[in-house]
Amino acid sequence: LTSRMRGFGATIFGEMSALAARTGAINLGQGFPDTDGPAEVLAAAHAAIDSGGNQYPPAIGLPRLRQAIVEHQRRFYDVRLDADSQVLVTVGATEAIASAILALCEPGDEVVTFEPYYDSYAACIALAGAVRRTSMLRFPDFAVDEESLRAAFSARTRLVLLNTPHNPTGKVFSPTELALIADLAREHDAIVVTDEVYEHLIFDSIQHVPMATLPGMFERTLTISSGGKTFSTTGWKVGWLTGPEALVRACLTVKQFLTYVGSGPFQPAIAVGLGLDDSYFRQVAQDLQRKRGLLTQGLVDAGLSVSSPAGTYFVIADAAALGATDAVEFCWRLPELYGVVGVPVSVFCDDKDAARTLVRFAFCKRDEVLTEAVRRLSSGG
Ligand code: PMP
Ligand code: GLN
Repeated sequence: LTSRMRGFGATIFGEMSALAARTGAINLGQGFPDTDGPAEVLAAAHAAIDSGGNQYPPAIGLPRLRQAIVEHQRRFYDVRLDADSQVLVTVGATEAIASAILALCEPGDEVVTFEPYYDSYAACIALAGAVRRTSMLRFPDFAVDEESLRAAFSARTRLVLLNTPHNPTGKVFSPTELALIADLAREHDAIVVTDEVYEHLIFDSIQHVPMATLPGMFERTLTISSGGKTFSTTGWKVGWLTGPEALVRACLTVKQFLTYVGSGPFQPAIAVGLGLDDSYFRQVAQDLQRKRGLLTQGLVDAGLSVSSPAGTYFVIADAAALGATDAVEFCWRLPELYGVVGVPVSVFCDDKDAARTLVRFAFCKRDEVLTEAVRRLSSGG
């Protein structure tokens, strides 16, 4: 293994899902739903397979999906895109993130991001030989600390890697925070890569504001999303990025040599999903909001202090009340102690102390599963 990648072991998600499978504990670790997405979307994938859609799609993605992405960005955010030059379909958001970082960073360039960060950010920055500079979001409100954010920028800043709604904290960046990030990006002539995979998983009538819609930001922003969360199809790995032509073309150059293309039949199916009525998108958020209530209330009743996620399907709890002194060690014992699996937040942090006893739980599960998890956490297993 190269020195760049040394220190990156197995991903925590794989490890924790394996732990859940081994112990039979309820898996609130890795974020994936335990029910299927809309029937029309599933049927469209079957139909594509049955009607000969089984060979390589174009590298930039099937026209039908690119058009659906364009229409989605116009419908929800009034962003106007050209389907042939400003959209790139990728193998999940994961490949979009990797392509963007590898396409835009020279070795030694700096990437500003927030802690805790989604695990692939650190790995892709390392793969590019770039340098990670972070600003900490602190439990329980995870507000942006302006001073530390400013300090993370330098003359070497090339990218800002933003994620809103934010995994693992559930934070939705406020318009004021987004404006500060945009100002700093402009000041340092940096490009913003914004991971918005949870764009529709947002609660309490809060609006998702894409960075690309801020004044003057479209031309320096690459926006990333994915069908996995919105349509409960995390295993399909259909993602995309959109932005100005030159940036998208740079990502295509990298993407074509990473995977060339992703699975063909899932692309028209996600196009069907993106075209569903507004009511579908509202329902997804409403259902998850109820589940957030179930899990957070249960955690509070079990004596834990919890964050109040405005988006995503994750909540962070301080497991100190359950006797945790180190969440990594605690999460390995959670199945035997409580019959539940969670993810220690410190694995997403450089500053381990800032998240020492914090555990992330996923609530994208059937209500009865959440109720049982909460019962176990309250009653000691
Ligand atoms: N970014 C974030 C913040 C995520 O939580 C995930 C989740 N899995 C991804 C990217 C990856 O998305 P995909 O499965 O579409 O590659
Ligand atoms: N995004 C999901 C999570 O945060 C899992 C993705 C993965 O397993 N890489 O749990």
